Amino acid sequence: MPHAGGALRADQLALVSGLAHERSIDPRLAELLAECEAETGLTNDASAAANLREIRRDYDRAVRLPGTLVREFAQVTALAQQAWRDARERDDFASFAPWLERVLRLSTERAEHLRADPDRTLYETLLDEYEPDAREAELEGVFAALRDELTPLIGELTDASDRHPGGAVQKGAVPVAAQAELNESVLRQIGFDLAAGRLDISTHPFCQGIGDGDTRLTTRYREDDFTDSLSSALHEGGHGLYEQGLPKAGFPGQPLSEATSLGIHESQSRLWENQVGRGRAFWSWARPRAASHFGSALDGVGPDDLYAASNVVRPNLIRVESDEATYNLHILLRFDLERALLSGDLAVADLPEAWNARIRQDLGLEVPDDRRGCLQDIHWAMGGIGYFPTYTLGNLYAAQFWAAALAELGGLEEAIARGDFQPLLEWLRAGIHRHGRRYTPGELCERVTGAPLSPAPMLTYLAAKLRPLYGLS
Ligand code: ZN
Repeated sequence: MPHAGGALRADQLALVSGLAHERSIDPRLAELLAECEAETGLTNDASAAANLREIRRDYDRAVRLPGTLVREFAQVTALAQQAWRDARERDDFASFAPWLERVLRLSTERAEHLRADPDRTLYETLLDEYEPDAREAELEGVFAALRDELTPLIGELTDASDRHPGGAVQKGAVPVAAQAELNESVLRQIGFDLAAGRLDISTHPFCQGIGDGDTRLTTRYREDDFTDSLSSALHEGGHGLYEQGLPKAGFPGQPLSEATSLGIHESQSRLWENQVGRGRAFWSWARPRAASHFGSALDGVGPDDLYAASNVVRPNLIRVESDEATYNLHILLRFDLERALLSGDLAVADLPEAWNARIRQDLGLEVPDDRRGCLQDIHWAMGGIGYFPTYTLGNLYAAQFWAAALAELGGLEEAIARGDFQPLLEWLRAGIHRHGRRYTPGELCERVTGAPLSPAPMLTYLAAKLRPLYGLS
């Protein structure tokens, strides 16, 4: 689309969103829902009952929103995204500020309409769209406990950075075609069905579950570092495995065939990217597999080098370029700042200063410009207030699921070292994927791991892996 087409696109999005909203609150739908609910006592079909409960949930949310607000929100966020793109390019926060103010005003308005329970905060009403039933206070508690232990761990690792063995990724350039072959072969090996999905290229990797039989993934390529595209492929592949494991054929287009939350979705991508893909066992299988596609580019580079190179902790100004540990400090910062913006405690004009102060405090870095500061992410421009915490929730769920899988599946790491990912995938399918939206994220976590969400499994996992690599006991 040409740049000048942005305003027209915003009009089109407003129209389509309005039409979709009208259909989702059709009075006939309310009648049919009531009829089905009157009959649920007559069935023992738990899936049908859960599906109905979730259709009701979606309907009740939609009907609380006025159509005019739905259209305005679609239009303003489309324009705000374009304004954000321009502002980021020119490093011009002042030109984006009025758009962010409009998005925040409309988000507050949406939350006021959506809030059914006066006991809920406006913020968690927005969060609820991404993470059903999540409570702001619980998140605050989990995140505070995470910060208390993660910050000193990162400090110790950073101080010991000269003791990290480094490790080479590869010698010389690896052509994109060879990397793509490796990525596809790894995706096939972990169980991603390429007859029902694809892997393509984009600047920002993503996964899109179109529907039954069609799950699209993308990655990006750097010729000097094949692990960058491989770990993106594993991340998106993890999302893709979840999409392919949802009961889409049984409940086409219905809630039971959808992911239960963004946090759970992210747990699936992080688990394959990090717990599997940055593990020692993975590299002992993947190194010879990579070498078979790359010719001599991996001569003299062993699995230990690749393992060390994929586990470097180094504070970075950019969230999406951050390592597994410091990444979470980026999210905690955004969680606090977006709540302050929504409540009005932080004025939009003061955002850059608040951001930079927090980066200095948490990561020890100076933010040289807003492009590498508060203008780096698209989420607020697209109206995604409440979206950021789902990333760290994903990391925490991933570590908790991983610990449960290790305990339940004997010899999991040995299987991975042989390239046998089937036991892990089957475990995820049975415990998580096949349920769709049957359980809320909190319920699912308890069922799969026997405990509520806790930061402890991730802290244990990070310390156990990273401390030895940095020569710390
Ligand atoms: Zn993801």
